[in-house]
Amino acid sequence: MPGLLLRDGRPWSAGGPADLLIRDGVVVKIGPGLDPGDAEVLDLGGRLVLPGLVEAHCHLDKTLFGGPWRPHSAGPALADRIADERVRRAELGLPDPARVTALLETMAAAGTTHVRTHTDVYSGSFGGCHGTGLTGVEVVRDVAARLAGRITVEQVAFPQSGILTNPGTAELLERAIGLGVGAVGGIDPAGMDRDPVRHLDVVFGLAERHGVRIDLHLHDPGSLGVFELELIIERTLAAGLAGRVTVSHAYALAQADAATQDRLAAGLAEAGITITTAAIFDFPVPPLKRLRAAGVNVACGHDDIRDLWSPYGSGDLLERAMHLAYRSTFRRDEDIELALEAVTYNGARAVGLDGYGLSEGASADLVVVEADTPAHAVVTRPPRDLVLKAGHIVARSAALSLPPAG
Ligand SMILES: [Zn+2]
Repeated sequence: MPGLLLRDGRPWSAGGPADLLIRDGVVVKIGPGLDPGDAEVLDLGGRLVLPGLVEAHCHLDKTLFGGPWRPHSAGPALADRIADERVRRAELGLPDPARVTALLETMAAAGTTHVRTHTDVYSGSFGGCHGTGLTGVEVVRDVAARLAGRITVEQVAFPQSGILTNPGTAELLERAIGLGVGAVGGIDPAGMDRDPVRHLDVVFGLAERHGVRIDLHLHDPGSLGVFELELIIERTLAAGLAGRVTVSHAYALAQADAATQDRLAAGLAEAGITITTAAIFDFPVPPLKRLRAAGVNVACGHDDIRDLWSPYGSGDLLERAMHLAYRSTFRRDEDIELALEAVTYNGARAVGLDGYGLSEGASADLVVVEADTPAHAVVTRPPRDLVLKAGHIVARSAALSLPPAG
C-alpha cells in the first residue's frame, strides 16, 4: 500500500513547518522537504497537526445521540435521575446500537481516535431490562468492532447501581472482563456502597487477578472523598498498579484546601494515578495546574452525552477542552494547552496507549485543523480538515483534496 506524505503541516510542539511521511499506519518521518517516493501527497497548507484526540470518560451505552430530541425528563436531584433512568431505559430501547454508532461516527469525524467508555453492568432487573446485566457490554463491543478501523473503544465495566448494595454485581464485573472489557469500574465506595474497604477489595481484587485497569467514579465530596482518595492511593501503591488506575471526577480533590490538595497530589503522583474530569455544569474541577506541577496525569472526557442524565454533549473533544480551560480560568496560550493535553497525551497515558503522539514511530492517528496555535484551536474549535486513524483517512474536508491519480 502506498504511503501518504502530509506536506507543509505544523505539528504541535514541532516548532515549525514540517512534512509527515506515513507508511503502514505509522509516522515514519517528520521533517522539512521530505521525498514522497511513491507516497500520495496531501498539502496541508500550513495547517496545525494534532495527535488523535482521546476521550477518557463517556457513557456510550446510555446515549440517545442522533435520535429525535428528547426533553430532559428527570427531576433535579441525583436520585431523580437514577429513578428516571430505571423507568425509561427499556422504554427507549437502551442501549441502542444505532445511537452508539451515531455517536462514535461523530466522535471519529471530530478527530477522536480513542474512546474509554463506562458501560453499565447490573444484576437483577434494571430499568425493566431483565437481561444478563451484560447487554450493554455486548452492544458496545459489537458496535466498536464494526468501527474498529476508524476509532478504538475501550470499555470499563461500570457498576452504576453499586457493587455491595447490588448483590451479584461483583460476579458480573468478572464476567464482563471475560467479554473483553479493559478496565473494571467502581462508584462512590462510601457514598454508594457504604463500605469503602470492601468495595475496593472487589475492584482491586479483580484488577489484580485479571490484569485489567481500574477507573472509579468518585463523586463523594469533602473529607469523605479525601479519605477515599487516600485509600485508593494506598491500595494502588500496595498492589503495584502505577499507571493503571484512574479516579474520575474526584470532586473532593477540587474542594479540598490547598495544603490537602498538595498532599493528595504528591500521593497521586507517587502512585501513578490519573485524575479524569469532565468539567460539566458547576461540578468541581480538579486544579489542573497544581496537579500537573506535582506530576499527576489529568485526562478529560465528556461524561454523559445526550442521554437521560444530560441533554448536552457533542462528542467534540476540542469543545470539551475549551470547557475545561474555561472552568479553570485559563487565558494564556500555555495554560489553554494544558486542557488540550488532557484530551490528547494525558488521555492516551490514562488508557495506556503505546505508540501515541506526534513522533517518528508513532501510530498515524492525527487531526488537522486551520488554527494559528493549539490554544487557538481550543478556543475556536475549527472544522476537522483531516482525520487519520492508523494512516487511514477517516474524515477529510473539501479544503484538502488529493491530486488526481497519475
Ligand atoms: Zn461517568
